[in-house]
Amino acid sequence: MEIACLDLEGVLVPEIWIKFAEKTGIEELKATTRDIPDYDVLMKQRLDILAKHGLGLNEIQEVIATLAPLEGAREFIDWLRERFQVVILSDTFYEFSQPLMAQLGFPTLLCHRLETDESGKVVNYHLRQKDPKRQSVIAFHSLYYRVIAAGDSYNDTTMLAEADAGILFHSPQNVIDEFPQFPAVQTFEDLKKEFIKASNRDLAL
Ligand SMILES: [Mg+2]
Repeated sequence: MEIACLDLEGVLVPEIWIKFAEKTGIEELKATTRDIPDYDVLMKQRLDILAKHGLGLNEIQEVIATLAPLEGAREFIDWLRERFQVVILSDTFYEFSQPLMAQLGFPTLLCHRLETDESGKVVNYHLRQKDPKRQSVIAFHSLYYRVIAAGDSYNDTTMLAEADAGILFHSPQNVIDEFPQFPAVQTFEDLKKEFIKASNRDLAL
């Protein structure tokens, strides 16, 4: 039995915080872990900015609902689900990704969770576990699944390494150069071919 594990942002949908910052015009929300390496500090800053602009979960979800998955993503995930059990492993939050997951047909998603108060204000966030993508692959292995994984960035590489086969998709050149052990492709058509190649079954396009 085989499970396909996919990253979400950068693979099937755009980077949600960046797009959200563009849509709302709130420049400070464009900061990433590259600017503020401590994730806890970064998230607290993001929650403060949301509160300052009076953006509760409802307003946030309204903005995110105007975003669309990447072109070809829906067709790709439908193709993949006909051939594999598909699980999306993401460092996003359920409450953020919900409007985009609806457009992808609600595939299984393992990610993190936001905490809101009665008024809808986002007051805290809860990470599911440490190194969650890799831990998920370990868990699937304990269930005797073979795992093929694809992702675009540094937070995917432990998942790719733990999987039986790892694929870089839409990765920037620095990630491709640093992880030459993984095949790297840029289009959904090529990604389908990599999944077929990595499978131990006789699959067709
Ligand atoms: Mg990503």
